Amino acid sequence: MEIKKETQVHSSGVPTQVQLEAINAQARAKMTAEQVYVFSLRLCDDQVDRDYERFDTAALPTLARMFIGKTGIVDHRWSSDSQVARIFAAEVVREEGVSYIKAWAYIRRGGNADEIIADIEAGIKKEVSVGCSMGFSKCSVCGGEYGICGHQKGESYDGQVCCAILQEPMDAYEFSFVAVPAQRSAGVIKGMGGKQMCLKELAENFGAQAEYRTLYKQAQLGIAYEKQLRSDVVRLCLSLELGVEEPVLRSVMDKAGAEELVKLKTALEARIREYMPVVTQLGLGNSKQETVESGFLI
Ligand SMILES: [Zn+2]
Repeated sequence: MEIKKETQVHSSGVPTQVQLEAINAQARAKMTAEQVYVFSLRLCDDQVDRDYERFDTAALPTLARMFIGKTGIVDHRWSSDSQVARIFAAEVVREEGVSYIKAWAYIRRGGNADEIIADIEAGIKKEVSVGCSMGFSKCSVCGGEYGICGHQKGESYDGQVCCAILQEPMDAYEFSFVAVPAQRSAGVIKGMGGKQMCLKELAENFGAQAEYRTLYKQAQLGIAYEKQLRSDVVRLCLSLELGVEEPVLRSVMDKAGAEELVKLKTALEARIREYMPVVTQLGLGNSKQETVESGFLI
């Protein structure tokens, strides 16, 4: 899933010698301390945010490494000159029980960049939007996969408020300075990031989790029903002693659709009633439950 959060620019200034070496490891041309402006950013932390999501503490070191080398852009008007800032170092910092990724970025001084530096210094460009992709979202209540388990973010279950714990960092994206910090609600967008999404992620992004869960359960019941139908038809064929082996029958039925199976089952049952009325009454109903796997019974 694509995650996008807002954060803030913290400190700023001239790079230290160590920082300059890290910058030059990222930069194409060797730069001097006077040529670059350094600032730090607090990226993701492991606290529950207003989306009732939090990054797993154990996922932060991997995510921090993914942010190194990522660039920052300022508005769309900078798109032709988009590599305005670049993260050259990132580490996990723990303060007062909170773990967070602290990143350092540099801007090459001169031209348009000086305007941005001035804005950062003045506190105008203080808000930063960061994005990343996480592979798994865990429910804090039951430990299952959030979105499937049935719990809802922000709702209380026996006094415990449900949140989604974001795990398995996949990628970190470029960050951008938020031009209008006042629009806080606009800053947190679960963007598509130009990547393919699965149906579950789409449902999460557009607030259709409940509908998705309902459809998912219905689909599982549908799968269970079709499986049951197949077993019934195979069993009916076997009871008619057609002389065909069970694996062959199963292979044939696996290729049949639900509608065909229903027709076949009706015809076979009619035929069995014709030949073996007593067996039908005694045997057909009882074994039905056995083949439904408990995993489908939600
Ligand atoms: Zn849950």
